[in-house]
Amino acid sequence: MTDPASPSFVELPISKIPGKCPSDLPSLVQPLAGGKFEGLLQESGYAKGLSRSSVTTLQVNVGKLCNQACHHCHVDAGPKRTEIMEEKTVDRILLLLERSPEVEVVDITGGAPELCPSFPKLVQGARSLGKKIIVRCNLTVIYEPGMEHLPDLYVDNEVEIVASLPCYLEDNVDKQRGSGTFKKSIDALLLLNNLGYGKEGSGLSLHLVFNPIGASLPPSQADLEAAYKKELQARYGIIFNQLFTITNMPISRFSEQLAREGKEEHYMGLLVDHFNAETVPGVMCLSTVSISFEGQIYDCDFNQMLEFPTEKPSQPGDFTPPTIWDYESWNELVGCRIRTADHCLGCTAGSGSSCTGSLT
Ligand code: SF4
Ligand code: SF4
Repeated sequence: MTDPASPSFVELPISKIPGKCPSDLPSLVQPLAGGKFEGLLQESGYAKGLSRSSVTTLQVNVGKLCNQACHHCHVDAGPKRTEIMEEKTVDRILLLLERSPEVEVVDITGGAPELCPSFPKLVQGARSLGKKIIVRCNLTVIYEPGMEHLPDLYVDNEVEIVASLPCYLEDNVDKQRGSGTFKKSIDALLLLNNLGYGKEGSGLSLHLVFNPIGASLPPSQADLEAAYKKELQARYGIIFNQLFTITNMPISRFSEQLAREGKEEHYMGLLVDHFNAETVPGVMCLSTVSISFEGQIYDCDFNQMLEFPTEKPSQPGDFTPPTIWDYESWNELVGCRIRTADHCLGCTAGSGSSCTGSLT
């Protein structure tokens, strides 16, 4: 593989990718039209498109407030955003969870989810119901004022931490996530290691997330994980469990970046050319439901950012946003059609992409 010490390793040539491998552009705030994804699905034997087979994971987006404002952010999150989940919404989510034993995992995201005042209640409530808790942590939030309780909250609830670290080289991380982010992220990883995170037998899982800096697909997850483990251990003494490679979705801030660089066509062509039918059975919408800070229901976090709500199972063709107050159990969403568009190509290109990394 490319020299892992070189910043250019994140731009692995497409030929080395295994398998067949988004201000001023309002049109890209809409689901990407074009029908390319549906056409490829049909050619691959999915004549009726996709429908949900189970709900084993509930992904809860508690809002857009974040202490960072990363270039690639598909949520358009940042320090000035005010959208945040209210306590009554958390209470309803917990009630439905209580009635839904089939949901095994509650995956909490944002923004920086920890900045939501009801975050501790959601974590503790879901954990007391026996659910596995995943938190999408940006690491630097641990050092924000008022967040001193976070390490204990994570440990006490055996929270699985999934943390973004797009490179183990300072320049690359600061370029994508803001100046000074890398050093704070390293400090936070060391703090988590000291608590037992990433250590075998501790029961405390720490996973890292890589996404490409530019308009390319991620390289091999296994190769990159090996390089991250070697480099982070050697340079900083940091350990972690798994690395998840995630494809940048052609929506929100990343679509704006593509437009500024004149690379939209190139990137969409890349996703189409590397459509991999073997990834389709693993796309996360098949077993996940995504909840917005207002309690609206979507097929995935990307559809949520595009305001592309799920279809009501009782009223096919009705796309007025259903909410958590319209249901009595998450099980009622099994069997409903999933709303897809060309942004879905980001999930099915190359080795595939989901919130837990590559799919094949
Ligand atoms: S990518 Fe994550 S850390 Fe960066 S602005 Fe978005 S939510 Fe915040
Ligand atoms: S973006 Fe991915 S997870 Fe979301 S609906 Fe499309 S295929 Fe499913």
